[in-house]
Amino acid sequence: MAQVKGLTLGQLGEFGLIQRVARIFGRPSRPGLVQGIGDDAAVVKIGHNKALVYTTDMLIEDVHFSLKYEGFLDVGWKALAVNISDIASMGATPTWGVISVGVPVGIPVDNVDNLAQGVASLARKYQIGIIGGDTVKSPDRLVVNIALLGEAPANDLLFRHGASPGDALFVTNCVGEAAAGLEILRRQTADGRRQNNDKHLIHRYLRPEPRVKESVLIVKYKLASSMIDISDGLHISVSLLCQQSKVGAIIYLDKIPLNNQLSTINYQHALQLALSGGEDYELLFTVPQRKIKKALALFPHGWIGVITKDKAVKLLNPAGREVIIKKTGYEHFK
Ligand code: ADP
Ligand code: MG
Repeated sequence: MAQVKGLTLGQLGEFGLIQRVARIFGRPSRPGLVQGIGDDAAVVKIGHNKALVYTTDMLIEDVHFSLKYEGFLDVGWKALAVNISDIASMGATPTWGVISVGVPVGIPVDNVDNLAQGVASLARKYQIGIIGGDTVKSPDRLVVNIALLGEAPANDLLFRHGASPGDALFVTNCVGEAAAGLEILRRQTADGRRQNNDKHLIHRYLRPEPRVKESVLIVKYKLASSMIDISDGLHISVSLLCQQSKVGAIIYLDKIPLNNQLSTINYQHALQLALSGGEDYELLFTVPQRKIKKALALFPHGWIGVITKDKAVKLLNPAGREVIIKKTGYEHFK
């Protein structure tokens, strides 16, 4: 591997770092791998038309959540929700999970109970068994990691690759709401006020609902040629899907489904939150032309763009002019 002297994590970024470690791990000699590093989850074949889907996501206090405005129940819920979302984005059913926690010694035991309750309540909802884990002391920040298995008929699986020029680009729901909820929570924490009409947005941030039902529909009607979940912002998710599919995309800005209340107050800001805010955990998928009618029947506000041969991701305003944005999404270390 080329040694770049003095290269910092800030220069390399999260994606560059993952590529580096992926080279170190290399391709496994064991047979059965369908999808390794580079998608929302890994996939291995375990039988005739049967695949195991495997993912892990970690939440770190003051990076992914703040106990200033999030409760332990919320943290537990989210730790599982983000993993379920990755399984759902592959078109698979979440099944079994293990959870590891790093807990600062000063945290009251009740709070750890609440964290587990948050995980358990979402696990019950989707009939996921939490069947193991690890418990360790952490110096000063709470750390929660879940590894989650899922399964699917191998033929049903969806990947970030698979999109073709001409496919329509769809999202399952409004984007930008969770990022707006986070902004409200931060503001409220700073000035100590709560406002009732912000409940929906705050809930979208604190208790993301993984789009399992939607994933089931997408698979059932064979709507999609590729899929990814929007964890770090719509723009970056479109870029990642396009990279893996070796295509580009046009996103029509006026087609992005936004929260009405937000877009009425400040449309530009609502749009920015949708494009680069993240944490929505909606699904982004591509639909071949012959399936667009069915996709529109199921997701009437979902059509936001088109896949192109030209490998760039372009944002077009209603006048057909290209719009350039500075921040496209969240990347660790950057
Ligand atoms: P997501 O946001 O969907 O959880 P990530 O951006 O975290 O996906 O990860 C992208 C891909 O890189 C996934 O296939 C993931 O398993 C893999 N990955 C991330 N970090 C590492 C690592 N340290 N070692 C090996 N693979 C990793
Ligand atoms: Mg993902």
